[in-house]
Amino acid sequence: MPINAAKLIWMDGALKPWREATVHVMTHALHYGTSFFEGVRVYDTPNGPAAFRLCDHVDRLYDSAGIYGCVIPYEKQTIISACEDVVASNRLDSAYLRPIVFYGYGEIGPTPTPQLPVQVAVVGVPMGAYLGEEGQTRGVDVCVSSWRRPAPGTIPTAAKAGGNYLSSVLISSEAKRRGFAEGIGLDVNGLVSEGAGENVFVVRGGRIHTPPAAASILQGITRDTVITLARREGFDVIEQAMPREALYLADEVFLTGTAAEITPVRSVDDRPTRANGPGPVTQLLKERFFGLFDGTTKDEWGWLHRIMAQPKKQDRREAAIAV
Ligand code: PMP
Repeated sequence: MPINAAKLIWMDGALKPWREATVHVMTHALHYGTSFFEGVRVYDTPNGPAAFRLCDHVDRLYDSAGIYGCVIPYEKQTIISACEDVVASNRLDSAYLRPIVFYGYGEIGPTPTPQLPVQVAVVGVPMGAYLGEEGQTRGVDVCVSSWRRPAPGTIPTAAKAGGNYLSSVLISSEAKRRGFAEGIGLDVNGLVSEGAGENVFVVRGGRIHTPPAAASILQGITRDTVITLARREGFDVIEQAMPREALYLADEVFLTGTAAEITPVRSVDDRPTRANGPGPVTQLLKERFFGLFDGTTKDEWGWLHRIMAQPKKQDRREAAIAV
């Protein structure tokens, strides 16, 4: 990711230049993985930039931290405003926002004591199609990873925590080394869990299946969006445990995530899905999903969080005079 000194990052209560948003090498999170974060997409809509399901992402950020007893030293509204400020002050039309909470610099040892500072930052970066433009339209080739996802009762996968991403690092780098776009992890029982940074859906006989919360997944906000949109279209969506071979017998497979949006899967372990790319169900759901951002799908759920442009200096002076 290019470093852009002109960009502003919200950190610990204020906007700072990109290069000044730094941490100490003794930061707890760097040693023990104690960060909690989100990825939020901002879309360029006909009504200006809108952060997709921003409040749901902020709720999950607090839930992730809460699982570890980490108290975020701000109200949720402050984090929401910080996200808005990063978009507005950097004049971003579309972006990927990364709000992150982490234990800072204090003492050595894994137990976070009350003396350990909890720091918060929000960064905005540009992001195109996460698994490539071609993958987004024609589908990606994925493999099942040799690495299993964390077992229940070990590291909680419901928390979007920095430490969890060691699993994603192993799964995605193995997949890329083997020439695949992404890897899918199985859970400790050998059942389908999720991609390194995406949830998995399988379409068969017109019904849509996805692994349940108990399959060591992060309950994705895009997963919930797709379930809602699919049910709205009259599809049966079934959250149930899924054996590996369900991926091989699928009519269609697709991945969902804030970064990946809806990415069709063309093949799994070199076995093409029946659709061998985006099938009709994936295509319809993509249309409905992306339609939210150009206005062709009505936002019945209040998912688009509009971000007002920061007034230009001139307007601000005029506003001040008017008051
Ligand atoms: N699983 C993992 C491991 C992820 O990192 C992500 C991306 N946040 C997802 C699933 C999808 O979640 P969401 O749709 O909320 O981005």
